[in-house]
Amino acid sequence: MSNQLRDRLDSVIERIERARKGFSHHHIVKIVAVTKYSDSSTVEALYNLGQRTFGENRVGDLEEKNAILINLPIEWHFIGTIQTNKINKLLSLKPSLIQSIDSVKTAEAISQRLQNGENISALLQINGGREIQKSGIEPELAEETYHEILEKFPNIKLKGVMTIGTHTDEVNKIAESFNLTRKIFEKVQSKGASICSMGMSGDFEIAISEGSNMVRLGSVLVK
Ligand SMILES: *Cc1c(COP(=O)(O)O)cnc(C)c1O
Repeated sequence: MSNQLRDRLDSVIERIERARKGFSHHHIVKIVAVTKYSDSSTVEALYNLGQRTFGENRVGDLEEKNAILINLPIEWHFIGTIQTNKINKLLSLKPSLIQSIDSVKTAEAISQRLQNGENISALLQINGGREIQKSGIEPELAEETYHEILEKFPNIKLKGVMTIGTHTDEVNKIAESFNLTRKIFEKVQSKGASICSMGMSGDFEIAISEGSNMVRLGSVLVK
């Protein structure tokens, strides 16, 4: 398994490298390995290949893998929909980054549940493709919402934006949704934003060519 994983990771790194250089030679893209389809032994194998940042979209799965791999200095990201009744559990696992705050209401719910003196790093999720079934804030409201969260909830350290590319085969449409999110990212950079999380297995090269500096990769690494 480890050899196959190594080949997949190598090939992904090469593809990212090519896309990154096409965008700019001075551009670093961070890989978040999404392990929602795999078990903790796969996480450990990827860790042994040098991968340090992992993403999960269910609190229960994050809890389970975190418990098994507690001795590894893994940076866990939460990338899934935030359910109010799971926030306490999620915060107790102390993820490095919550990528999926999608409203002021969710931010408030998280803020209220943080202990005194605690804070959490997070991204604002944007519905760049304006798809009804997808979570994320509407692009038109994103900048305003970003500022509102920063002002109202000082214990939430907003570090940037996240989006899921439009679900279509049309490259133009996908690129457009990434471009929209990147423009929002550029506007909030003056407020300290440094992360633009865009791109999954099927579209990460398009995302990088639109300025993504964080890709969330699952199936291209592990099936
Ligand atoms: C599952 C998931 C990914 C990874 O998806 P792949 O297409 O398997 O790379 C990335 N981001 C989010 C939010 C996800 O839920």
